[in-house]
Amino acid sequence: MTILRTSKIYLRLCVLGALVLVASGCGTTQPRSSASSPAAARADSLARVTDSLKQVLATQEERARLRHPNLDATLWGQTAVEYDGVTRGAYRLASVMMERALADSSWTAALEQAEQPPTQYRDKPPAVVLDVDETVLDNSAYQARLIQNDESYDSESWNEWCRERQADAVPGARRFTRQADSMGVQVIYLTNRDSSVEASTRDNLRELGFPVEDAPDAVLTQGERPGWEPKAPRRAWVAERYRVLLLVGDNLGDFTEPADTTLAARQRMADRHARFWGTRWIALPNPQYGSWMGALFEYDYGLSPTEQLRRKRERLDTKAKTP
Ligand SMILES: [Mg+2]
Repeated sequence: MTILRTSKIYLRLCVLGALVLVASGCGTTQPRSSASSPAAARADSLARVTDSLKQVLATQEERARLRHPNLDATLWGQTAVEYDGVTRGAYRLASVMMERALADSSWTAALEQAEQPPTQYRDKPPAVVLDVDETVLDNSAYQARLIQNDESYDSESWNEWCRERQADAVPGARRFTRQADSMGVQVIYLTNRDSSVEASTRDNLRELGFPVEDAPDAVLTQGERPGWEPKAPRRAWVAERYRVLLLVGDNLGDFTEPADTTLAARQRMADRHARFWGTRWIALPNPQYGSWMGALFEYDYGLSPTEQLRRKRERLDTKAKTP
């Protein structure tokens, strides 16, 4: 911050100096060869100011290029042991809650079932429902590529990344899903990945050691069936067949919908289901992207990156004192 402020002041001084020199007429009539003349001296000064200006501008451009909006969030996921600590902790909590849920046949994480009497679902086979991206698969390398290439998310590059099958496992996820599988709990992956990359997703999960059943209903992708674009109908489909012990995800839409709504509406939804968090709903951290971020600029993804940043900054709460 101090460097930036200093640069701005220096830049203003350089511009001011240049204006003074230009106003005094230097470099406009005399050739630079007569270095001893006053006009030539002013021309040399102007050249030095110009060079300084160029340097300052180059530094500013370099800072802007390096300072991608997702830089810190992506590095946090890729390098911070604190990230591992949070995800492993979340999955340990999931493990404890799964055992508690198995012992209580009235327990359900699905809102569709929570509205029913337990007799409607208590005898159904148990299942845990997990989102995929940033819940069991770590796609931070895709985000890192966007940063390196100064690009934004698009479905084409995303699907290409999915086909590469290079995602890592989110720490703690594999252990939890294996435990569920060994306890006879159906592991269901409910993802907004497109159905065209389901085979790649299954391969990626299997290669990392996640339990993935061959049955088509263990991985529920977007658009796999008519009307399966939102997650809610897919959750309802699961709730008709299983008692849902836990929902695990990194996005509000992994638990309830609509997630893509105003900040105030999102807060009301989260508050309404406060007793589900950390018991029936297990949340993973995702500072890189998600409906939380879109809500900051009304999901207008057509805005320029600069305008998105501007709107995000307007959401900062500084607790400023009112005059
Ligand atoms: Mg996700």
